[in-house]
Amino acid sequence: MSNIHKFLDYIGIQTYVLRSTIKPADKISNETNWVELEKKVSHCKDCELHKTRTQTVFGYGNQKSDWLFIGEAPGEDEDLQGEPFVGKSGRLLNEVIFSLGLEREEVYIANIIKCRPPDNRYPSQDEIQSCTTYLQQQIKMISPKIIIAVGRAAAQHLLDTDLEIGKLRGTAHSYGTESIPLIAIYHPGFLLRRPSQKRKVWSDLQIVKTLMQ
Ligand code: URA
Repeated sequence: MSNIHKFLDYIGIQTYVLRSTIKPADKISNETNWVELEKKVSHCKDCELHKTRTQTVFGYGNQKSDWLFIGEAPGEDEDLQGEPFVGKSGRLLNEVIFSLGLEREEVYIANIIKCRPPDNRYPSQDEIQSCTTYLQQQIKMISPKIIIAVGRAAAQHLLDTDLEIGKLRGTAHSYGTESIPLIAIYHPGFLLRRPSQKRKVWSDLQIVKTLMQ
């Protein structure tokens, strides 16, 4: 059992040990820097989504942040503006960030895929896999103290599981060989449809706060 899980058990938060088995990025060299990586992403044609995108949506925020939020995929607003979480879901995500005592500029926000799926459909496994090394490289360069997986697609991909988000939220997981603490929360898009579920996110944020104290 990791130290995080021991600690959470100690303070009475139920833990569920699920560890991502995602392998380190191999498509991009160790020397890659932010500018090179963003350029590489902007030219990417590894999956069909490049044909319908307006532009790629690389990520936003403080590249040295301890806090990394990872969502699913750009929607219409994000595809037009080139920035993640700028539409209605983004405004709710900003509230989540604010409730942690932070501003949007202080955290880093990315998605598991960098191009908008047409009609905002759920990304396919092939699309997620084609994009995964970009995200892995971002995680490696940021080296966050915590990852907040925003929604089902991000949580399942990062934890390499098909367990439902309802089973993944409410406890601490860890990501990758560095065992970065990972908490999964409901996606703001889901909360906009089911506001009664918001309280579960606020409760998950208590775990986040505890871990970061
Ligand atoms: N939903 C996401 O998961 N990511 C975005 O960037 C916007 C909406």
